Amino acid sequence: MPKFIFITGGVVSALGKGIASASIGYLLENRGISVTMLKCDPYLNVDPGTMSPIQHGEVFVTDDGAETDLDLGHYERFIDRELGEANNITTGQIYDTIIKKERRGDYLGGTVQVVPHVTNEIKERILKLALDTGVDVVIAEIGGTVGDIESLPFLEAIRQMRLDLGTDDTLFIHLTLVPYIKTAGELKTKPTQHSVRALRDIGIQPDILMCRTERELGLELKRKIALFCNVEIAAVIDARDVRSIYEVPLRFHEDALDGIVITKLKLKAGSADLSAMETVVERIYNPRESVRIAVCGKYINLKDAYKSISEAFLHAGAENDTRIELAWVDVEDIERAGSADEILDGMHGILVPGGFGERGIEGKIACVGYARRSGVPYFGICLGMHCAVIEYARNVCGLAEAHSTEFAPDTSAPVIDLLPEQEGVVNKGGTMRLGGCDCRLLTGSRVHEAYAADTVRERHRHRYEYSNEYRKLLESKGLISAGVYMKKDLVEIVEIAEHPWFVACQFHPEFKSRPGRAHPLFREFVRAALKHSESAKEEE
Ligand code: GLN
Repeated sequence: MPKFIFITGGVVSALGKGIASASIGYLLENRGISVTMLKCDPYLNVDPGTMSPIQHGEVFVTDDGAETDLDLGHYERFIDRELGEANNITTGQIYDTIIKKERRGDYLGGTVQVVPHVTNEIKERILKLALDTGVDVVIAEIGGTVGDIESLPFLEAIRQMRLDLGTDDTLFIHLTLVPYIKTAGELKTKPTQHSVRALRDIGIQPDILMCRTERELGLELKRKIALFCNVEIAAVIDARDVRSIYEVPLRFHEDALDGIVITKLKLKAGSADLSAMETVVERIYNPRESVRIAVCGKYINLKDAYKSISEAFLHAGAENDTRIELAWVDVEDIERAGSADEILDGMHGILVPGGFGERGIEGKIACVGYARRSGVPYFGICLGMHCAVIEYARNVCGLAEAHSTEFAPDTSAPVIDLLPEQEGVVNKGGTMRLGGCDCRLLTGSRVHEAYAADTVRERHRHRYEYSNEYRKLLESKGLISAGVYMKKDLVEIVEIAEHPWFVACQFHPEFKSRPGRAHPLFREFVRAALKHSESAKEEE
């Protein structure tokens, strides 16, 4: 039977619970203990797929086609295992299941209640994940902060799990904040004490405290926290701010966190070899080169909306020994300016990421046009491929009205059109083309060379697609169909041969990039940007 680590958060949100959890996963995997990870989200949405990226951040898509919390992205990047639908539980899913059961009569004669019905459903799902995956340890992160009304059923469920399984098989880790008060010149432990008290009120005594802090905790403070919060001194971990999230597991290891977890759960483990992550961090901190890449979107006010893209650039930068300065360009600014030329001047690469809705679309198309004409490397993802096809159709193929039927349902040139299987779909949740698909690459294309493979598997999340009605015309004018989903004959990648680097794909490559193993398309895009910056320097 697998063992369970439950991670809760206190004091404030946004302490990086996802990264802390993922880092523990990384350390355990590194020491030969197999791990899977679970995010429990207390909101009532069935999944985050219907939420705005500005509210909730990116929707992370798994290979099995689930739309999940962005923390699953951190988990996959740190433990380097593919996760799926079962790795993200929401209150919405739990209630959906229970209400369906109730209607079916499964509880006939009974009153359906939060305890035990909701808590049982939560426990069953956690146990099922453990058994189905057959790992040594399940790390379950409970979303929200202790004290929230919404997360109570999850906390009650994990409290019961300790009772059911005992202390050798369950571990409670609580992440808190130890703020530095400038005027007093001191780190303060009171918020942590209160947070642990709130947790104890509902019956959970944490075994390990991870204290987010901007300064070193020191032994005195650790002793104080240990005494007031009823944990061992060695189990008070200094979770200091670091410049890169990939340094987090290295610092945790320095503070012997993995050792404590292994001892408390009585796990068999090998020794740690963190050299691969050390190299990644070293390359992120001390790169030789630097390039400026514009990310042209409309959700730029919340950086979490493009989390996996930022991470993929970090990985690709590390592999190219290059610092990537991301310039977040609001495409509506480009629309207001009437041209992309000035705003994109001096960029070494231009990326148009995925997106939904008409707002800002002409700004994005203008970015593509600028990149195509100026020879600045271009990378389009999902909607960024739609924009590339539209721009090419309009300005190279003479189809002035070319558009996507997502934005112009009556256009005379629907170069991007609804996928046939999407006709008649009315429900919004979980109904897009989702998850992993195989894509056959054209021999001799840029992407074929980048991947060094004939067929690749990438993840999707969209309803519209490059229309085959226009494929011949665009191909004849130089837009190469470099990747095709053979089963349905859908073009998944387009390229322009004459351009230094112009690649746009229908899928989301960012989801599969890893530290130490950057995604080939990001890696090659950055390499092209680097080349562009070098030739720009020579011209000066
Ligand atoms: N809105 C487009 C579609 O649904 C693109 C989606 C995306 O960029 N993820 O097809």
